[in-house]
Amino acid sequence: MSYPLYPWQGEPWRQLMGNAAQLPHALLLTGAAGIGKRRFADRLAASWLCESPDRAIAPCGVCDACRWFAAGNHPDFRVLAPQDPEPEPSEDGKPAKKKSALITVDDIRELGDFVNLSAHRGGARVTLVYPAELMNTAAANAFLKTLEEPPQGARFILVSHQWRRLLPTIRSRCRVFPLPTPVPEQAAQWLGEQGVVNPLLHLAHSGGAPLAALDDASAEWLPWRTKLLDGVANPGSLDVLAIAAEFDRAKVEMTLIVDWLQKWVHDLVGYSMAGKVRYYPDRSEALARLAPRAAQLPRFAERLIEARRLATHPLNARLNIEALLYDYLAALKGAGERR
Ligand SMILES: [Zn+2]
Repeated sequence: MSYPLYPWQGEPWRQLMGNAAQLPHALLLTGAAGIGKRRFADRLAASWLCESPDRAIAPCGVCDACRWFAAGNHPDFRVLAPQDPEPEPSEDGKPAKKKSALITVDDIRELGDFVNLSAHRGGARVTLVYPAELMNTAAANAFLKTLEEPPQGARFILVSHQWRRLLPTIRSRCRVFPLPTPVPEQAAQWLGEQGVVNPLLHLAHSGGAPLAALDDASAEWLPWRTKLLDGVANPGSLDVLAIAAEFDRAKVEMTLIVDWLQKWVHDLVGYSMAGKVRYYPDRSEALARLAPRAAQLPRFAERLIEARRLATHPLNARLNIEALLYDYLAALKGAGERR
């Protein structure tokens, strides 16, 4: 069977496919990052394209349609995603121009050609938008037109980690279908089966999202997170310039850095207000030590939300990291005792 569901997805799948005939032409799959929405979406797309009679239970995996889909060349399937944000090598040695990290209106125009053609196999034409919140405003408006007047047979699966960032007009054109984050016991069991040692700790680091936790147990960026957390846990000896330069050289992704900082600040504020640690239980000693100085951190947390929004923009990473860490130090200094 292709695209097996994760253990926590069986019930939602049955719910969705139980009345497959009633499904609207556009579905919006929502839920936290790292819970397996993409696999669910792929399975759904595959089963819409599958040519076996049992496709509502699962795509058969052996018909022509399923084999093309698995090979990534089914003619009636498109993925709309941001282009690879890695810069292309340039021929003349100049700094390469970055491709867009967003879904742009040009992408939507190309999609129009696909959507408006009749299906090669006479069945559905399926478009997967992943992640949907990365459509810029112009793209979202252009896409809305496609959603409003869908050609016969066109079906859309939108996947979003942050669906509230979508245009309300797009949301209202879709059936919103939330996918669950599993309870920790179920997630930990699955992680154990994947060979993860200490699954509950990795789940905490990842806010309970099992695929993110799997990543957390083996990601190549782990030493960088350790370094950053060591730094912010010891503000008195935090060398902002050195860390920023080092992270910039290593091209540590800004989205990761902001994510680690957001979780750290969340824990500091949580500890100071309720003695609670959500993400970094392995750092509770440092959290307890710094929590009395957390009064100004909620404002810094707002700053991080903005930084997260801008993290995919091509800003100067080194200056950006420096500014964030200096703001963090200033927020700590603004409250509680000076060191
Ligand atoms: Zn099939």
